[in-house]
Amino acid sequence: MSYPVDGIVFDLDGTVYLGNAALPGSVDGIAELRRRGKKTLFVTNKPLEPREAYAAKLIRLGIPAEPDDVITSAYVLGHHLARVHPELRYYVIGEESLRQELRGHGLTIVDELWDQDEKEVLDVTGIDAVIVAFDRTLDYRKLNTAYQALLQGAYFFATNADKACPMPGGSIPDAGATIAALEQITGRTLDLLAGKPSAIIMEVALARLGCPAARAMMVGDRLETDMLMGRQAGMLTAAVLTGAATRTEAEALAHPPTFILDNIGALPSLID
Ligand SMILES: [Mg+2]
Repeated sequence: MSYPVDGIVFDLDGTVYLGNAALPGSVDGIAELRRRGKKTLFVTNKPLEPREAYAAKLIRLGIPAEPDDVITSAYVLGHHLARVHPELRYYVIGEESLRQELRGHGLTIVDELWDQDEKEVLDVTGIDAVIVAFDRTLDYRKLNTAYQALLQGAYFFATNADKACPMPGGSIPDAGATIAALEQITGRTLDLLAGKPSAIIMEVALARLGCPAARAMMVGDRLETDMLMGRQAGMLTAAVLTGAATRTEAEALAHPPTFILDNIGALPSLID
């Protein structure tokens, strides 16, 4: 049995590539799907680099891509906030490329409170919302500023909630660590998560593909994010075994993916 599919959303890390190498089947599989007229879109939870950088990487690996073929958690958050909260003043725990992305959506980013001592209780007047992202420059000033703002009732948003980011040789703390710290010390919980597995990132992806969820497919390596959000969005799902999940884990889910594939190369023969 094959399934009618018009648009396909691909996770990147562990699905299309790993590190700086394309995974087996991904270059040819994606080319074949496109040749048959399928729309393709790439999503990543990483808020560290602009969409142009991911498109450039895909091109280097042999997969033609434009920046508009990629959505990141930073892009999704900026896109969403520009529609629902364009008037707010945002304090960002994140790196410079995220601030640029958010400014690109017309959002107002508050500067660090350099005129105040970060060892004191900071006056955070003028901060309406705190955005937490993967930030490898996190320091006490940022933590204290976000803490004071959240105690004062600022909105609490995040690009992504990954606990750790896989790296050659292991992993390093990601945004989930900072979110957990702020939740713990303020008693607050996130008001909004833009990245996987939130519904927002899939809404943006489906709007970009321009096809109904029932004729769209989510392809990814993580069961708890990629497969969960694809299923919750009403999409077909395909788990690839090139990254985080094993076949045993995928088959053991209460709602297993539509397909469990060794890699993307197996996909074209399964869909109409
Ligand atoms: Mg992945």
